[in-house]
Amino acid sequence: QSPQMKMPLWLDKRAFLTPERPAIEVNGEKWNWAWLNKEAKGIARRLGSIGVSKGERVALLMDNSLNMVAVIHALSYIGAILVPLNNRLAAPEITWQLLDAEAKLLLYDSAFQEKVAQVDVDKTKVMAWSEMLTYVETDIDLQTHIELSDIHTIMYTSGTTGRPKGVILTYGNHWWSATSSMLNLGLNTEDRWLVCTPMFHMSGLSILLRSVVYGITAVIHKDFDPVKVNQAILQEGVTMVSVVSAMLSRMIEGVTMEGYPDHFRCMLLGGGPAPRPLLEKCRERGIPVFQTYGMTETASQVVTLSPEDSLQKLGSAGKALFPTELRIVMGMKDVAPGEEGEILLRGFNVTQGYWKRQDATEKAIQEGWFRTGDIGRLDEEGYLYVLDRRSDLIISGGENVYPAEIEATLLSHSAVVEAGVTGVPDDRWGEVAIGFVCVSQEKNVAEQELILYCENRLARYKIPRRIYFVKELPRNAANKLMRRQLLHLLSRKQDEGVNEE
Ligand code: ATP
Ligand code: MG
Repeated sequence: QSPQMKMPLWLDKRAFLTPERPAIEVNGEKWNWAWLNKEAKGIARRLGSIGVSKGERVALLMDNSLNMVAVIHALSYIGAILVPLNNRLAAPEITWQLLDAEAKLLLYDSAFQEKVAQVDVDKTKVMAWSEMLTYVETDIDLQTHIELSDIHTIMYTSGTTGRPKGVILTYGNHWWSATSSMLNLGLNTEDRWLVCTPMFHMSGLSILLRSVVYGITAVIHKDFDPVKVNQAILQEGVTMVSVVSAMLSRMIEGVTMEGYPDHFRCMLLGGGPAPRPLLEKCRERGIPVFQTYGMTETASQVVTLSPEDSLQKLGSAGKALFPTELRIVMGMKDVAPGEEGEILLRGFNVTQGYWKRQDATEKAIQEGWFRTGDIGRLDEEGYLYVLDRRSDLIISGGENVYPAEIEATLLSHSAVVEAGVTGVPDDRWGEVAIGFVCVSQEKNVAEQELILYCENRLARYKIPRRIYFVKELPRNAANKLMRRQLLHLLSRKQDEGVNEE
């Protein structure tokens, strides 16, 4: 982007355009744009008296809340960079991210007091929200404009496959993410988009930034509670929700065949593979599921499947949104439609790289394309099917085995509530798949029955060698399955004696 790409600060412009419209709703209480703007400016002036200035990193350790929304906008007024920390991380992990980001300030909710006490940093000022409020509002010049090339966020990836990397996201990345999502989903000024995923991850933050650009209401839940989410849709007029599949499967348990009311127009489902049985259940209930593919590095969704396509393209993540481009390659050479390869992306949503990680950046961005590390294929019409992460691939007897496919098969069994699959070394085949499942209380099912179930549905080399029954699967704060940690369950199982609950 050219350095001349300036525009008015988003919240200021929004408060000017539609001051009275509801901006934020938390627990039934509403705040309008004018109020939120005043609040954000007040916090910006306090941050000024604390000594935060343009370009400096401010880390947040907060729950989804009105305060978190206000401070995120306040940072724009100063030009400081937002570093949202995953509040489920342990103190040493937080310490590492603060050092890595070279944060000037860590602002935290009192709920995290105990954790913060164990954080060990000397270059970062560590301050509770309540202490921040004791600072006076200095009369500093607040920014009136932003440059699209300015850095807005350094957001750490979920750490599903390794140590999280700080993804650099500019105002331009977020702007184009909001714009391309709207070009696909359309804009309805009456929309109420529910935030029930953490705002320290892309799916939550992106809703917040969209709400200010679009002028719609962000309805904020502190945590994900399936009952409350259903209530928000059924009774409180929420029109859009962003979820991952583990959340949606819990929500669907509380939805009758009548589904959701007509005003509900979008269930944005992303973050990981969407199991077919879940999609089918939603279809039976007429729930408008938009399956999406995206990542922190692309400032959220970049590929989306509309409900009208979902019938004939069930399981596809859809087409790359306007104006993003997508290729499937093997060794940077395009493969034919139908063939598998790595998914590459190019577009304005895509990050310029990782914070202080030249090596990782050079590996990820090649010939101007972002290498996602995910395996997928395109059909003849350009619909993307995401198979799995390259790093989770199991190679058994020379055949590629995708854990996601086996998990989806297990999940289609009526007794299975959650499933995780990983590979273990095997003398004969190199590697074989093994499965872990959580089963519903009422249904009694044996390991052999599940294996037989897979045998009837999957090629022989994909059949899990063993299936272990566990109470829960390892998931991170984004509710994503941590496949690498499945093997820890195995060692625990062996200590306990296999398959005894
Ligand atoms: P890390 O990069 O630290 O390992 P992460 O990749 O899980 O963590 P995110 O950026 O939150 O962190 O997740 C993006 C990843 O989620 C994608 O690269 C992809 O592997 C997976 N994903 C997202 N959407 C889909 C989808 N529709 N189908 C399959 N996988 C998906
Ligand atoms: Mg990743």
